[in-house]
Amino acid sequence: MSRVNTVLGSIPTEELGIVAVHEHIGYGMPGSELDTRWWKTPEERYQETVPKLRKFHEYGGGTFVDVTGICNGRDIDYYKSLSAKTGVHIVACTGFVGGDTALPFFERASVDYLTKQFVHEITVGIGNTGSRAGVIKVGVSRGGKMTDLDKRIYRAAARAALETGVPILTHLAIDAENAIAIFTEEGLPLHRVLFGHADDGVNASKTRDRWIAEQGGRVGFDTFGYETELEDPPFWARPRKERLDHFLGFLAAGHLDQALAGVDANCSPLGWPGVKGHTCNYLFEDLIPDLREAGLDEATITTLFVENPADFLTIQT
Ligand SMILES: [Zn+2]
Repeated sequence: MSRVNTVLGSIPTEELGIVAVHEHIGYGMPGSELDTRWWKTPEERYQETVPKLRKFHEYGGGTFVDVTGICNGRDIDYYKSLSAKTGVHIVACTGFVGGDTALPFFERASVDYLTKQFVHEITVGIGNTGSRAGVIKVGVSRGGKMTDLDKRIYRAAARAALETGVPILTHLAIDAENAIAIFTEEGLPLHRVLFGHADDGVNASKTRDRWIAEQGGRVGFDTFGYETELEDPPFWARPRKERLDHFLGFLAAGHLDQALAGVDANCSPLGWPGVKGHTCNYLFEDLIPDLREAGLDEATITTLFVENPADFLTIQT
């Protein structure tokens, strides 16, 4: 039977329901936890997060994939209690958002060390939480080109994915030639990789989304909602219609089965104020209505938010 690892244990794939494939319970840059001005009490964190997850569940959301990397505030025991209280399945990740968010302890780690670390978190568990990672996060450091550390992390992720059957999700889809070369050398089929952030305002023009799909990769349009129309838009914002048209063009080019969509929201930001007016519920309040209005039928919506993520997340053994 096909299964997916969640923080409360592995579940049958059919139970995932509607999936938010690229989300964050709480994301911060490494070290932000040492800046006391940003500290939040447990009550504040719950108050910021629980209502959003409850609403997500009320809207019909089934699964929340938290792709907060190892050094960015990942907190598995907290996720477990959130999942138990709200009924939302939470999938946690192993891996790193990018080489530039790996702390010095990991910076010089070999491919072998990183592989063992990822495999341990997927097959044994993350620390003593008993929770197994359901996805591996990797990413391209700032600067547009993969660094040596990024490449070691990608190679280790490929080996861990092959050994465990868990998929890989990338932060940024730029420099995909280098990423695909590594995955190909390691023998990892590209449908096990979701190349994310193909749609963000900074990188969209530099991302070869259709080429990635032609090679067999999955493509994530997963920063929906970070739009220039917001009161205080972040630097990666983009006009709402421009992003939607980009996505619809990708679907129209015949890549529906490789497309995943998400909103990359942050329930309770760590070390920064976050982006006002953007939550995981953009998925239900704006994105799905926009897609319906653009003419997508219910079967296509189900493919995008239920079937494609289920196919991607299922452990392949
Ligand atoms: Zn993210």
